[in-house]
Amino acid sequence: MFTIGCHLSASKGYLAMAKEAVSIGANTFQFFTRNPRGGQAKPIDENDIKAFLEYSKENEINVILAHAPYTLNACSADPGLREFAKNTMIDDLRRMEYTPGNYYNFHPGSHVKQGVEIGIDYIAEMLNEILTKEQTTTVLLETMAGKGSEVGRNFEEIKAIIDKVELKEKIGVCLDTCHVWDAGYNIIENLDGVLDEFDKIIGLNKLKAIHLNDSKNELASHKDRHEKIGEGKIGLEAISKVINNSRIKDLPFYLETPNELDGYKKEIELLKKCRM
Ligand code: FE
Ligand code: FE
Ligand code: ZN
Repeated sequence: MFTIGCHLSASKGYLAMAKEAVSIGANTFQFFTRNPRGGQAKPIDENDIKAFLEYSKENEINVILAHAPYTLNACSADPGLREFAKNTMIDDLRRMEYTPGNYYNFHPGSHVKQGVEIGIDYIAEMLNEILTKEQTTTVLLETMAGKGSEVGRNFEEIKAIIDKVELKEKIGVCLDTCHVWDAGYNIIENLDGVLDEFDKIIGLNKLKAIHLNDSKNELASHKDRHEKIGEGKIGLEAISKVINNSRIKDLPFYLETPNELDGYKKEIELLKKCRM
């Protein structure tokens, strides 16, 4: 099955997102658990959750992906900011259990001046404090473009975090095509080589989701500027190979391209045509 969706606004609740997804031909979606800059989450509305779960079943909505606010920094040098990231993620994971068995994606963070090793230690420490055996949510580390001092700019850094996590079965990886391209992984000329490397270093069994984006910038630019599918430096041909690659074609794909709803609808139509 081709699982494809895009990033949607969570402001009207879960059922509204699921209906919006279906209306554009999607069978999954991504959303921010709260304002992307942080702040309070909307209280859980149990009626909305119940209606969402029913609607999802009827309409075959596949695994959904919650995205943590991108301002959280689990490896900040400031203990107060680390504490804030931890508490926000604890609250998000508690809320995620209302919709069991889905994914929660976060950016590992930026180590700023303390160095990547300390950054990796902080992220793993936080995960060891927040992950529980009981949770049904899988927490995904997102591969980053390597802008500034971002942690997770290569597969080795992601692996180093996972190695230090105790409940490894609760952890996975979300590969962002724009980010890995910007980080220097040539998915145009050597997608299979990149996947081989992912497999060798992290293990493809840990790869749970794909953020499907084109990039405004060149290979290894370390910029992180998403582009519409087919309008960037990665291009439609390479993206088409991503969604058809036998090793990853059954993963869920989430568009985070600069689009409004009708733009996403067109991209989803285009990708369905490219899907073999
Ligand atoms: Fe992200
Ligand atoms: Fe992403
Ligand atoms: Zn990005």
